[in-house]
Order: sequence, then structure tokens, then C-alpha cells
Amino acid sequence: MLEVNHLTKRYGKNLAADDVSFTLEPGTVTVLLGPNGAGKSTVIKSVIGFLRYEGSILVNGMENKTPESRRVLGYVPEIPALYPNLTVIEHMEFIARAYRLRDYAARRDSLLARFELTEHRKKFGDELSKGMQQKLNLCLGLLPDPEVILLDEPMIGLDPHAIKELKNTIEELRAAGKTLLVSTHIIDSVDMLWDRSLIMQGGRVRANVSREELAAQGKTLEQLFFEVTEGLEPEDVAGEPLPETGSGEAAGSAETAATTEPAAPEEPAPPASEPAAGAPAPGEESRS
Ligand code: ADP
Repeated sequence: MLEVNHLTKRYGKNLAADDVSFTLEPGTVTVLLGPNGAGKSTVIKSVIGFLRYEGSILVNGMENKTPESRRVLGYVPEIPALYPNLTVIEHMEFIARAYRLRDYAARRDSLLARFELTEHRKKFGDELSKGMQQKLNLCLGLLPDPEVILLDEPMIGLDPHAIKELKNTIEELRAAGKTLLVSTHIIDSVDMLWDRSLIMQGGRVRANVSREELAAQGKTLEQLFFEVTEGLEPEDVAGEPLPETGSGEAAGSAETAATTEPAAPEEPAPPASEPAAGAPAPGEESRS
């Protein structure tokens, strides 16, 4: 289970996350949608513990920055952070040692086979194609078998076969009772996968809706997305009934589909001052 309570993150005057609250249940897939600059990465990086923020984040009831919660929290970053001088298999060993995994060989091999990396296992990080890097990135995130899994734009750069395998993997993880949060700005890529949808804009959660609740409204996710992210001026919203976007505990703590406050203006992000992942970026030199 993942509980985000009143998460607020400021970059100067810019509110990248503005009082964000939601609860994700085990055995569910939640998609985090929003246009560029909406605050999706800020939420993900806050949950994983990369950023300082106001509010509280609990992973299976534990504060997210404790060693215990880190053990159950998995993260697949949007941009793979691989070592140019480690092979595919060495990357897997590296993660296994970092997490002190035991009896992981079968899981390691099955992940590599699933994402078609078995025959590339002796290739170095900088010898992998972009798609292979993304696949290895997924394998590294999933190797420790985390309980709560954050996937940041996981479909980007994958070929159709890998996308199919990733979708199957996500469904299996859900069936195994894991809590999944998948961030994306491409709605089509996650259709049919999700149980709950969070739509962000301007740092705020504008909609928090389950699949059943959306079906009851007779809307598609795409329709809700555009309804929420387009043309909702404060004066338009104030006197109108808001789209019904959720009920119960999980939805109750989140924003409804519209708010009377304008979205924060987007600012170009300066170079990130906080690490995007634990490993250095791939080197430029090519190995002969
Ligand atoms: P998304 O992932 O939805 O595209 P982000 O969470 O990356 O959005 O960005 C949310 C807002 O925070 C944007 O206005 C962005 O410019 C700003 N932002 C993100 N990272 C930084 C940073 N390191 N420094 C300053 N502003 C940032």
C-alpha cells in the first residue's frame, strides 16, 4: 500500500506538487496521467525519496525514507542509468548485492529471458541499444521483487514485443498483490491496464477515479483527461457540478476533477539539482 498525504514540493515559487494526496491499495494498478510539467515525476521522485518535500509518504505503513521501506519500494526510472563498463549480467549482480538478495538466479534469468536479454547478457551498458537499455532498466527495477513499484514512463523506447511483455508483467504483479503506480503522458499505452487513474495538472491531482467509477459516468479515460486538463478556467468551474471522480477512502483524500484555483504556470526546468537515479549515466566513449 502507498499513502501520499498532503505532498507539497516547491521549486522557488513554482509548486511542482501542490497538496497531493492519494492512497493506492495492494493488488491494483494506478496510472498517473498528466501533460508535461504536470508534476508526475515530482510525485514519483518524492515517493522514492529523491526529493525533499512537505507532507508524508507511507509505504506499507512505513515512512518512505527508512531502510525498511526502501527494501519494499521498487523504482524504474524513465531514463536508464547504466554503467558503461558493467555487462547486463553484472548490472543484475550489482542490484542483487545492493539489496542483499538470496536465491535470485532463477528470477534474474527469467526476467532476462522475458525481455530478450539472455543472448545480450555479456554486453556492456554502452553496447546496448536504447530499447535494450530500457529493458535492462525494467529487469533491474523488478529483480528485488518489490511490493510497491513505481514505473516512470515505462513504455517509452520499447518495441511492440517488449510492450506486450511489460503489460503481461504488470498484470502478473497486480495478481501477485503488488501495488503499482505507472506514470505516463500517453493514455493509449496504459488503457486496459489500470484500476485507478490519477490525473495531474499544475502540480495538483485534478481527478482520482476508479475504472468502475469512470464506467458509471459513461466516459473514457481520454475524455476525462481532456475534460480535466483542457478549458477548465476557474470561472467556468466555480458554478458547475464537477465530474464525479471517486468515492471511498482512496478517492476521498484526493482532489476532485476540477478546482477553483488556476494551474501553476509551467516554467522550464533548470538542470536537475537532485539525482535522478543511483547510478551514473552511460559514458560517451564506445568500446571496440
Ligand atoms: P511531469 O513529470 O508531469 O512532466 P515534473 O514533475 O517534471 O512534471 O515538473 C513539474 C513542475 O516542476 C514543472 O513546472 C517543472 O518545470 C518543475 N520542475 C521539475 N523539476 C525541477 C527542478 N529540478 N528545478 C526546478 N523546477 C523543476
